[in-house]
Amino acid sequence: MALVEIRNLTKIYHREAQEVLVFQDLDLDINEGEFLSLMGPSGSGKSSLLHLLAGLDRPTKGTVAVGGAQISAMSQRELSDWRASKVGFIFQFYNLLPVLTAAQNVELPLMLTPLSAKDRRDRARFALEVVGLGDRTDHFPRQLSGGQEQRVAIARAVVSDPALILADEPTGDLDAKSADEVLTLLQRLNSEMGKTIVMVTHDAHAAERAHAVMHLDKGVLTR
Ligand code: ADP
Ligand code: MG
Repeated sequence: MALVEIRNLTKIYHREAQEVLVFQDLDLDINEGEFLSLMGPSGSGKSSLLHLLAGLDRPTKGTVAVGGAQISAMSQRELSDWRASKVGFIFQFYNLLPVLTAAQNVELPLMLTPLSAKDRRDRARFALEVVGLGDRTDHFPRQLSGGQEQRVAIARAVVSDPALILADEPTGDLDAKSADEVLTLLQRLNSEMGKTIVMVTHDAHAAERAHAVMHLDKGVLTR
């Protein structure tokens, strides 16, 4: 069954008097349990596509459905609730809050859920153990390496147990060894926890760690 169904998706940005057509009438199905890489030149719309999948941006035209929910039809309020539990997003530069510890950063998405403070703490601790940072829960981001920061960000992305994980150049800022650890972790989330993953990358070796590679170029998506 398709976890993600994109139909006739068109994205146009308006910048001053200019229109930027990123893609037009895009269709895409992603099955539950798939691990896909997304490659393409800079400016081809990879981040835009991930943002639309995460409900961080809205289509100009067309629909995006995830797990049967039409996210393109949701109100802002419905969308932020949906995002807190149904999708995890991993950024190139981690996007951790510097004033919060690793555990507090990981807990953040759970603040929008009815879980008790104790349940939130337990889940954050467990997620940090899954990414191999059970001994770093009280460290602040500045006390962690880049690779460790990205693993905290991955813990934050999975803490609410979403079916879909979206990663935008997750290894783009990392050395080879840390990048390898992050990719191995993503593979485990897919194979052991059944997460469906879409990962944008510029690195062909990283892309090969997925089941299949999609290409986005000049508004055309091929897989
Ligand atoms: P990629 O991630 O593949 O490098 P993006 O999705 O970031 O590409 O951008 C695709 C195109 O859309 C680019 O031409 C970019 O300048 C434009 N774009 C992206 N976001 C915005 C925005 N918020 N406002 C205006 N133009 C944007
Ligand atoms: Mg991008």
